[in-house]
Amino acid sequence: MSINTEYKKWLSEQLGDRVGFDEPMSVHTSFRVGGPADAYVISESVEVFTKVIRWAGQNKLPILVIGDGTNLLVKDGGIRGIVISMVQDMRKISIEGKAGDKIMVKAMAGARMQSLCRYAVDLGLEGMNFAAGIPGTVGGGIMMNAGTRIGSVGDVLDSVDVILSLDLREKITRKDINFSYRKVDWSRSLKSDPEEKPIIVSGTFGLKKSGSSMLKKEAEKLIEKRMVTQPKAFGTAGCFFKNPEPEKSAGELIERAGLKGKKIGGVRVSTRHANFIVNEGEGTAADILELKEIIQNKVLEMFNINLEPEVKIVGE
Ligand SMILES: Cc1cc2nc3c(=O)[nH]c(=O)nc-3n(C[C@H](O)[C@H](O)[C@H](O)COP(=O)(O)OP(=O)(O)OC[C@H]3O[C@@H](n4cnc5c(N)ncnc54)[C@H](O)[C@@H]3O)c2cc1C
Repeated sequence: MSINTEYKKWLSEQLGDRVGFDEPMSVHTSFRVGGPADAYVISESVEVFTKVIRWAGQNKLPILVIGDGTNLLVKDGGIRGIVISMVQDMRKISIEGKAGDKIMVKAMAGARMQSLCRYAVDLGLEGMNFAAGIPGTVGGGIMMNAGTRIGSVGDVLDSVDVILSLDLREKITRKDINFSYRKVDWSRSLKSDPEEKPIIVSGTFGLKKSGSSMLKKEAEKLIEKRMVTQPKAFGTAGCFFKNPEPEKSAGELIERAGLKGKKIGGVRVSTRHANFIVNEGEGTAADILELKEIIQNKVLEMFNINLEPEVKIVGE
């Protein structure tokens, strides 16, 4: 359902210049493609955020909460309903106390993963360096179980504060969340509706005391490695497909299928990293989706392997 005049009026009255209508999603995603969202809300506090979500729920308006849009492909027709971003204000990071040998660090969902990494490194807290160089927010990182071969969010997350659509604020502890490769299963913690996707307000991470300068060196090395192996200057959402098995890289399969450098419209399979699709400037979501199909079909035909996108595809 799209946003009618009455809904626009309510949103404008509540949010002032923190709501925009027909907002192009190309400016809110790292792929730099995507049509307009009916309404785009920049939330200023948990209270306002909760109010909008509750109102949208009552009026059956779809909501999509996003972080930095670094793992999102929004289709060219855009998004019907309300997109909510937390990146402007919900960014606080703080020490919450101790539990056993762990120091508990709480980060709001809109905080950048990089800020959390730097915060931990500066205080000599070990555990976050797997995320050195991963773009995006804490909220997006938790939803994606973001990580690399050396670790992922699920390894260090202790609990999350979430909002459920029924307006319930809840704390969910790690033992009730099932993390796997770039996937999070909430069904154990969501008693009323196992299909529901919670909205992350904050995450608390359990980190161990260690040495700041050693952690700093390690983080710098990891970031340097990324600079060499990943394409720069183009619109991208990082690895487009999941690796089909831990030892079988999607990038390698795409390269062996002869698709490195393959171009459709304004987008291309990166010549530097075959699992990156890059927008060279004038690309559209339709170009990316066409290239995705070509890659999937070729890899299936040659290796009998179905590549599953890691990037979340949304909109119409
Ligand atoms: C150059 C580059 C390199 C990358 N390297 C890596 C890497 O090494 N490892 C890796 O794992 N990823 C990598 N990524 C992908 C991406 O950075 C991560 O998936 C990141 O965690 C996404 O965070 P985000 O804030 O941008 O989320 P978004 O892209 O905005 O959203 C991702 C998903 O999370 C949901 N979401 C976001 N915030 C919330 C919230 N508060 N509550 C509920 N749902 C929410 C969205 O609805 C969406 O489904 C890379 C991307 C780029 C562009």
